[in-house]
Amino acid sequence: MSARLVWRVARLTAIRDETATARTLVLTVPDWPGHLAGQHVDVRLTAEDGYSTQRSYSIASAADGETVELTVQQVPDGEVSPYLGEVLSIGDPVELRGPVGGYFAWRPESTAPVLLIAGGSGIVPLMAMIRARRAAGSRVPFRLIYSVRTPHDIYYADELRMRARDDAGLDVAYAFTRAVPDGWPSPPRRLGVAEVNTHGWPADFEPECFICGPTGFVETVADILVALGHDPQRVRTERFGPSGA
Ligand SMILES: Cc1cc2nc3c(=O)[nH]c(=O)nc-3n(C[C@H](O)[C@H](O)[C@H](O)COP(=O)(O)OP(=O)(O)OC[C@H]3O[C@@H](n4cnc5c(N)ncnc54)[C@H](O)[C@@H]3O)c2cc1C
Repeated sequence: MSARLVWRVARLTAIRDETATARTLVLTVPDWPGHLAGQHVDVRLTAEDGYSTQRSYSIASAADGETVELTVQQVPDGEVSPYLGEVLSIGDPVELRGPVGGYFAWRPESTAPVLLIAGGSGIVPLMAMIRARRAAGSRVPFRLIYSVRTPHDIYYADELRMRARDDAGLDVAYAFTRAVPDGWPSPPRRLGVAEVNTHGWPADFEPECFICGPTGFVETVADILVALGHDPQRVRTERFGPSGA
């Protein structure tokens, strides 16, 4: 069996709160084969009566030995995310397998400019790309457009502020859909052509584009990019939510 299809028993070694409803789980995974930024894992929970269920979670961290970080947004009444977000404690085991996927992945040897567009928890695999760029010492120009409901919903806020300041060639722009920070120049609104045009790359730069978030968000943004002249082959998408979300 391929190494990535093997279920491994990871241990939770640290927890970081990202927002009031999302937390990062730092896991140690024995014999982890390494991963590309953008890949995900499958997490499996098994109850005492043998009932078992699994969900996918993007890897938030750049490859780093046996450490794998996931950031889980709690979905109210969800089966798996409240367990990972509230019940799982330091030292507890959790079964996972991966890394899964190779299409929605950024490779450090790539030289094309990169446009990352995240909606909500869709920032997770894109943050892995920003971290992998830093870890590889890549100078490839990166632009991130991050759409969130309110300033309190920004994941990795301090790190993004620090990286936008210190990582040469990384630009970070926000779009707020429900509430804006004090002094923000425009009212809350959905991400549209204007923001993508202003904060993205022109199509003739031929950037690699990665879009991640709820299904509706991803489809809208992909349509905008294609309408702006981006080659659909260079627009890669990852959908988190159930269809119509
Ligand atoms: C490739 C991939 C990567 C993913 N990476 C991440 C990640 O990094 N972080 C993360 O938090 N989630 C991620 N997800 C979503 C994750 O797999 C689960 O769908 C999510 O945690 C909800 O699972 P649950 O068992 O708690 O809810 P469920 O019991 O499956 O659903 C409960 C209710 O919530 C609705 N619902 C389910 N998922 C969502 C959602 N995403 N948004 C809004 N409503 C929803 C359902 O329709 C249902 O009504 C990813 C999904 C995919 C396919």
